[in-house]
Formats: sequence, structure tokens, C-alpha cells
Amino acid sequence: MSFSKLGLNDQLVQGILATGYTAPTIIQSRAIPAAVAGKDVIGCAQTGTGKTAAFVLPILNRLGADPHAKHHTLRALVLTPTRELAQQVEESVTAYGRFMSLQSLAVFGGVNIQNQLKRLRRGIDIVIATPGRLLDHIERRSIDLSTVEVLVLDEADRMFDMGFIQDVKKIIAKIPAHRQTMMFSATMSKEVRALTASIQKHPEYIEVGEQRKPVETVTQHFYSIHQELKIDLLIHILETTQMESVLVFSRTKHGADKISHRLERKGIKSIAIHSNRTQAQRQRALAGFKHGDYKVLVATDIAARGIDVEGISHVVNFDTPTFAEDYIHRIGRTGRATSKGDALTFVSRSEGEYLRKIEYFVGKRFELKKYPGFDDTKRRTPETHPATEVRRHEHVGEKKRHWESGGDQSRVWREKREERTGHSNRHKSDFQKPFRKRRRNTREHQRPA
Ligand code: AMP
Repeated sequence: MSFSKLGLNDQLVQGILATGYTAPTIIQSRAIPAAVAGKDVIGCAQTGTGKTAAFVLPILNRLGADPHAKHHTLRALVLTPTRELAQQVEESVTAYGRFMSLQSLAVFGGVNIQNQLKRLRRGIDIVIATPGRLLDHIERRSIDLSTVEVLVLDEADRMFDMGFIQDVKKIIAKIPAHRQTMMFSATMSKEVRALTASIQKHPEYIEVGEQRKPVETVTQHFYSIHQELKIDLLIHILETTQMESVLVFSRTKHGADKISHRLERKGIKSIAIHSNRTQAQRQRALAGFKHGDYKVLVATDIAARGIDVEGISHVVNFDTPTFAEDYIHRIGRTGRATSKGDALTFVSRSEGEYLRKIEYFVGKRFELKKYPGFDDTKRRTPETHPATEVRRHEHVGEKKRHWESGGDQSRVWREKREERTGHSNRHKSDFQKPFRKRRRNTREHQRPA
């Protein structure tokens, strides 16, 4: 099938071809005709299936087809859970609509509001927004939603996960009831279904691929590894495997920074993004990664949401995701559209339960393997990692003592106390164990033979 058969106008088809797409993906060939006919649509599709174009193209088609509409009046609103996704949707609007004269704007927090106010005053046809900042604009009366004809909720399941749903409902209450509503979600939870029922009219339900199955273009591997050896395994993999661009997921922001620093120290170009970074820093990091300046991008789940980088060859789950849904979203960052990708998940002993949740969610059992060629019997000690520990010693006196004491924390505290008080008075707890032991021995002694 070709794009020209989907009922889209010529300028738009030219824009799609100029973007480099030759044929619609499955979700596009099913959702676009329904949406062009003005129907409400529920798209249940995983990330990477081409769902953005499935709603952006019908919007552009509708707005471009009505010559009588007032120029640059807000007629389409797309809500996304994250800034990155808002920005990427906006980039798609600009790319596909390059031969049309529509104005679009991504509206999200974490950046100065003044530029957004200026652009909104000049007139915008399509706004792609995160709920929080859009509510700010509504309160300031800098945006008027009464003219919106098309509403899209992108990644609706994520809106729930991230606690935005009340904000979303407040926003929807400001939009005329007579509108076209499209909703896209990777998973159709109870909550998402309930929302659909309350905001859509006789929607066309389009499901692509079996729900709960990660995209088929991704090969999934699970490696059993001790928590403290994960960084060594990651470095080993990066040094011994052919990898072009790698997205590493960390559960925490601090963890993301730590991984990135360790890789940098090993001479592997990497950068971390998470919600503590400013929008400008995140954009710079993402642009650098896209451009190939960094081989590795380390991200937390929230920051990675909506990352759309062509050619991510590997996704590494440094921490096994706590929620099975996150696993699907994470691995969907590779194997985008039709290219292939690998997802590697590190599973420590305490993360076994998360793996079981993933297996239950996906409906498949995975083999938990040892990474071939990696010696996981070595644990980190000052002997095996002298350089690292010397560096640690310089910065963290307490850690140094810990290592030197062979991991005996009570000895560390005792030494610290001695240093502080200037004499070697022992704390009573230092005696408790030997005392108990002695008493037991004594009783043993006294027991008649
Ligand atoms: P999405 O699921 O919308 O995030 O899209 C995933 C990726 O597929 C993006 O990088 C798009 O640029 C790309 N893409 C979308 N539609 C097509 C298409 N028809 N042909 C080739 N690539 C596409």
C-alpha cells in the first residue's frame, strides 16, 4: 500500500515522501483512513510501530483541507506525558507538514514560558503539550481551547502511570464536546478503557501486534549477575561487542550519573539524562547521542520516555525494571519501525521477582544466562580493583577504612571512635559477642561429662 491511497492530500504525501517513508506501517494503514473519515480512534500499539504519524497525518490532512478556517487558530491539541515526546511529536508535525503553512508549537515545562507566550499570541494551529504547563497557560488565559477540533492523547497509559490523569481530565473539560478524539496507548489497562468510554464516541479500535508482547524485531537476553559486578559487565560488553548506539536504563538518577561517569573513565563516550537535568541539558545530550558524539546514553525511565533515536542497536537494562510495563517501553526504544535490535537485561539475585513479573506480563519464560566470556566469580575487592579503590580512598575516607578493614564495619567505627576520643576505650558492644561466647563456653564446661 502507498500513502497516496490513504486519503491524504498531495502536499502531505509529498511531505511524507520527503521524510523518507515509502509505505505506511500497519498502524498507519489502519488508523489513518478511519481518522481521515473523522472517526474517533483508539490505537493500541506499542512504541516503535509508527503511531505518531498515524495521528499526526490525519490532523494535518484535516487542517490543510479547510481553506475557510481562520488562519492559525488552535484546532488540534496533542497531549503527551513527557517533554521529550512533545518535542518529538512536534518535530514530526514539522517534517510531514513541511509543504503546508501550518504553525505548531510544543508546550512543556522546565523552560522559560515567555517564548511560548509570544508564539501563542502570534497564532498556532497545532499545540503538542504536557499537561502541567498547558494548565499554567490555561490559568494565565494565554491559550484558548474552545476552538479545538481534534484532541489526541498520546501514550495514555503513561499519563496514568505518571499521575497526570486528573490534569488531563481538567484540560479535556475545556475542549468542546463536539470534537474528534484519538487515543494511543501501548497497553489497555482498566483505567485507560474507563477514560476512553468517558471521552470518546463510538471509537474505532485498532490493535497492532499482540498486546503485551514486546515488538517482534527485538531480541531479548537476560543475564544473571551480581549487583556489584554489573558495571564491569557493562564495560566488558561495550568493549567486546560491536555496538553502534546503546541506551542504558538505570532505576535512579544517581545511578544514571554513576554509570555514565564510570563509562567515561573507561574512555567510553557517554552521557546521562534524567529529570534533574534542565531541558536544555537534556536536549543537548539527546542531540549529541543522535549525532553520534556519545556511544552510550544512560537514562531513567521518565527521561527516556519518548526518546526517538534512529538506529539504537542495543538497550541495556542495567537494573531490571520494577514494572513489567516499563520493560516493554524500554525495549521498544530499539528495533524501531522495521530495523532490528537487542535488549539486554541484567538481573541480580534480588531482582528475580521483577523478571518473573515481566515473564507473567509478556506470557513467556526467558532463559536467565551467564554472559559468555565474562568472569563473574571475581568480586570487587581492593586487590581486583586497585585503581578504582585508590580513587575512592581519596574521596571517601569511610569507604577506605571499610576496604582496609576487610569489610568489618564495627572495626571502622571503633577506629573512628579511637581517633575522636584519643584513646582506645572500647564500646560495650565490642565486648558483647565475646562475652556471650565465653558464657556459653563456661556453661559447656560446667556440664557434667
Ligand atoms: P513511533 O512509533 O511513532 O514512535 O515511530 C517509530 C519510528 O518509526 C520513528 O523513528 C519514525 O520516524 C519511524 N516511522 C514511522 N512511520 C514510518 C514509515 N511509514 N516508514 C518508515 N519509518 C517510519
